[in-house]
Amino acid sequence: MAKERLYLFDTTLRDGAQTNGVDFTLADKLAIANMLDGLGIDYVEGGYPGANPADTELFAKDRELKTTFTAFGMTRRPGRSASNDPGLAALLEAHADAICFVAKSWDYHVKVALKTTEEENLASIRDSVRAAKAKGREVLLDCEHFFDGYKANPKYALACAKAAYDEGARWVVLCDTNGGALPHEIEEIVAKVCKVIPGDHVGIHAHNDTEQAVANSLAAVRAGARQIQGTLNGLGERCGNANLVSLIPTLKLKKEFSESFDIGVSDAALTRLAQVSHTLDERLNRAPDRHAPYVGESAFATKAGIHASAIMKDPATYEHVKPETVGNKRKVLVSEQAGRSNVLAELERVGLKVDKNDARIGRLLEIVKEREATGYAYEAADASFELLARRTLGTVPNYFGVIQFDVNVEQRYNAKGDRVTVSMAVVKVKVGNENVISAAEGNGPVNALDQALRKDLGKYQKYIDGLKLTDYRVRILNSGTGAVTRVLIESEDEQGEHWTTVGVSPNIIDASFQALMDSIIYKLVKSGAPA
Ligand SMILES: [Zn+2]
Repeated sequence: MAKERLYLFDTTLRDGAQTNGVDFTLADKLAIANMLDGLGIDYVEGGYPGANPADTELFAKDRELKTTFTAFGMTRRPGRSASNDPGLAALLEAHADAICFVAKSWDYHVKVALKTTEEENLASIRDSVRAAKAKGREVLLDCEHFFDGYKANPKYALACAKAAYDEGARWVVLCDTNGGALPHEIEEIVAKVCKVIPGDHVGIHAHNDTEQAVANSLAAVRAGARQIQGTLNGLGERCGNANLVSLIPTLKLKKEFSESFDIGVSDAALTRLAQVSHTLDERLNRAPDRHAPYVGESAFATKAGIHASAIMKDPATYEHVKPETVGNKRKVLVSEQAGRSNVLAELERVGLKVDKNDARIGRLLEIVKEREATGYAYEAADASFELLARRTLGTVPNYFGVIQFDVNVEQRYNAKGDRVTVSMAVVKVKVGNENVISAAEGNGPVNALDQALRKDLGKYQKYIDGLKLTDYRVRILNSGTGAVTRVLIESEDEQGEHWTTVGVSPNIIDASFQALMDSIIYKLVKSGAPA
């Protein structure tokens, strides 16, 4: 029997952006959208054009993603025509493949929050869907407070959903906005909705206030819904949204779902899931949740003892799925063999071919373990790992050496009498037989050091002209011996390729310097610069 298609809709960049402490820049949004696109998510909701400058800019031009890039916004305001509503106009102008409207579906909210009539709310839904369809957009309607609304007045909640569907909306999404519904309630109500609206036009948007957003999403699918909305790592206001990082492997690896449904995430993409989850945490400057299902560091970790020895004989004894299917690793004993396979997997991931019996693998493994113990994070910094591996395998030329550098920070008054802080860096580099001294100013010490370092690298300069730093993240780690600083630097080149490097030191400038050096050397290696 042919499988049914189940669609995934990611709202990390819209609902997830409501998370306390999360503030996405335009660069963050573009990077995350690309990551979701690569994963095979069907719909990526980018934000709310017109609501803030970053979202407006995000939708100012085509982003050329494979996913259905979706703009979010409200239906036309009550008492206005669709053509005379600036909010709706901004939404219709957005460069998006689809528009997801949000509308009230609880009669109580229509009266109290919207202060309008039930009929005017229905008219607003119909007019907005019609206007977006006329613009050639695919249309979704998020029915806000659908489950609470349905419990209070099923007829009206359904009328809202039906108004959008009848007008040609591709999806009607049932939202548990307050997150209080339980799985059996969701299953019952969604089943009733699917009698009126075909399930392959019904979506579920669950919040995690009873820690059942994932279960509620699955309950909705059992009842007939064919679109799930959620976020990476369950980001979202209050307790978060349904976690796609838990839902995706469940849908792909659990028979009840995998035998009935296909999703857009391939098996190969699934093996990158742990990396996707951790990359988002790095971008948010958060430590990944070690206990996150499927992707957490501890998700497949077993302490020594009878479990561990059973796992060594046959992993299936204590594992519900194979860790490598989601890009995670089994952690049993830190045996030479287990670690070796991890390093081999990493080498393969960065595209370095090494014979698995090469004695240097053992040496590399020791160095990685030693360095990770002091705070390096190679999973998040592939470029630094690749350099470390290449160096251990003996293939990185000594392009140049930094003989010394000096950075200062100065606070003074400028000509206008404003207090300003400026930094200056001087770097002395040896390239071949030539000594080069460069100085540069920057808005901070790391910026000044970066500018000075990349100002003149003699014969290598042409290889790094297109190099740009796109992100800089600092985390203070508390090791046993006191605090150290980990710096992660993300770079980009003229071909749009991104890579991340890492530096660790008790001194933030030194940690930054290491990461900057790795970034430059990685670029030289990648460009095939001669030794
Ligand atoms: Zn929501």
